[in-house]
Amino acid sequence: MNILKSGQYTFNETSTNHQYHSLLTASENRKGVLDVDTVKGCTLGLQNHINGCYGECYAYKNARRYGIDFSKSVSRKGSLRHLGEIFYIVKNHYAKWYRIGTAGDPCHDWENTISVIESLKYTNKTPVIITKHWISLTDTQIQRLKNLKAIINTSTSGLDTNSEIEYRVNQIKRLRESEIKCICRVVTCKFGNSAWAKDCNEKQDYLLSLKPTIDNPLRLSKKNQHFTNGDILAIINKDAIGGEKLISLNNSQTYLGTCYKCPDQCGINL
Ligand code: SF4
Repeated sequence: MNILKSGQYTFNETSTNHQYHSLLTASENRKGVLDVDTVKGCTLGLQNHINGCYGECYAYKNARRYGIDFSKSVSRKGSLRHLGEIFYIVKNHYAKWYRIGTAGDPCHDWENTISVIESLKYTNKTPVIITKHWISLTDTQIQRLKNLKAIINTSTSGLDTNSEIEYRVNQIKRLRESEIKCICRVVTCKFGNSAWAKDCNEKQDYLLSLKPTIDNPLRLSKKNQHFTNGDILAIINKDAIGGEKLISLNNSQTYLGTCYKCPDQCGINL
């Protein structure tokens, strides 16, 4: 089996209104991430937010571009023989880790997520999970992930509601108390001066204080109302890889390039 470069579109997934197929794949995207998504699509993200989180979910936009219904979460699995093929793709890839949660949130099927990670245990590669915990892990699942040395990036933002922040910070605390390496991955913005913007900025500063953190600048479309009304300040960055080129940079030093040179490595180096 070949490593599928940038995107996983096979068979008839390019016609409209299609769902992701349910076969587990391992593919390197343009950023250099080895994506081993155990779930594709994001039912709960789309139920909670039109066009996904903050109206700017890159994975949703990409799926729509290929005529795929992102609101249908599909668990990705495979036969033992197939998992064997995925095993060698992961083992032979240059990176020390692989990512689960690139185009969909693995929380939609934690059991499948953990059993896939267990099948990849002897690749000696670190599983890095990106999630918003729409569905929380059970204590038993947390213990299994701890034994698998998984790193969990909990995605948060100053744009989240107070109750979303409270819930996600509680998940971060739960995981850290269980000695799981949990990164507070903050979707950040450079905010304007309105009361709304100042409130978001305050929440953002709080989230960025929950070290270790990753600063993940929001990429947004020019039609975003918070951008057009000046609440979110953003600049065009022609070199930015993956997603929109319009980026709201809270910190001008934040790295925007490919994974090859990224200092954070999704938390591996933090
Ligand atoms: S949780 Fe992630 S994949 Fe789901 S809608 Fe939000 S940003 Fe998109």
